Amino acid sequence: MTVIAGIDLGGTAINYTFCDAAGRFLLTQLCEFPARVTDGPTVCLDQIAVGLQRAAVHAGIDFTDVVVAGVATPGPASVAGVLSAAGSTNFAHPGWAGFDLPARLSTQLRMPVVYLNDGNAAALWGHVAACGEKESTSTSITAVAGTGLGGGVVVNGRLVVGRNGFAGELGHVLIPFERIEGAAELRPLCNCGRYGDLESLCSLTAIERVLLPALLPQYPTHELHRESTVRDAAKRVRGLAAAGDPLSVRIFSIQARALGLFVDQMVNTFDPDAIIIGGGIIETTEAFRNWFIAEVRKGMPPQRAEQRDLPLLLMPDGDTAGARGAALEALRHFDETTLQLQ
Ligand SMILES: [Zn+2]
Repeated sequence: MTVIAGIDLGGTAINYTFCDAAGRFLLTQLCEFPARVTDGPTVCLDQIAVGLQRAAVHAGIDFTDVVVAGVATPGPASVAGVLSAAGSTNFAHPGWAGFDLPARLSTQLRMPVVYLNDGNAAALWGHVAACGEKESTSTSITAVAGTGLGGGVVVNGRLVVGRNGFAGELGHVLIPFERIEGAAELRPLCNCGRYGDLESLCSLTAIERVLLPALLPQYPTHELHRESTVRDAAKRVRGLAAAGDPLSVRIFSIQARALGLFVDQMVNTFDPDAIIIGGGIIETTEAFRNWFIAEVRKGMPPQRAEQRDLPLLLMPDGDTAGARGAALEALRHFDETTLQLQ
């Protein structure tokens, strides 16, 4: 049996999954361990190797059947998976700067390793799950809104990675936010230095830095004034919105309308088969998710008749999306005859 491993290495947790040569997943539930990323690459790579063997036991897989692995991490990294020499938020230990993650992990695991950034990995999984048998001829755009906003673009079944690996950095696409009702007075500055990009309007960071500071003062008796930090208050907004709190509903409406304007840009650039939305923003009640998707649609300018039925889908199995996408990318690059990457 040929088994492909998928590894999603985040800032605080590692997820594992496995699929067979036909791309069928052999683990349905989340298989997650804490990640020792802050202890640097030596400790962390040992931990990945041990964890992967444990995950195989957990899944009832003979580890000798695992022939190739895909690994996903938050960026920035090169197309080949060399982590940024300038460091990154999630890989702050100096040992990670300029670290060739797939090459070193390949030595550690004694198998070829393929790299994707986690947004692209989630996008590939979302694409395959959404488009099914038509995935190789379909185009999809995935936006994952969590602490930041990541995602990816899949054209005719292939991830677009770009010249430097930065394709699919959808959070930094500029949005004409002044068109959103009640948003013209916002001052949405992103970490990247851009003003009014998607991440600055539609992410947990946007709630903390832009939306709550602008809107909470208009609700002087609101319970969020009692939270000790804006970050703590920001984390509560999703739950309060799902419960119908007017301020929180307003904040999520602005985020959804910003996504709607973004989706319209994607429609006119790619004429896609599907838009997939994932991340913490949708980890709530079904009723709230349905309302949110309807708000995204309301945020889109009028569409051509042919494009009005564009599916806006929710990411399935979101917590395992990065690991699943990494495994699928490894499967695509692996030659079973030579047991090497192609
Ligand atoms: Zn940005």
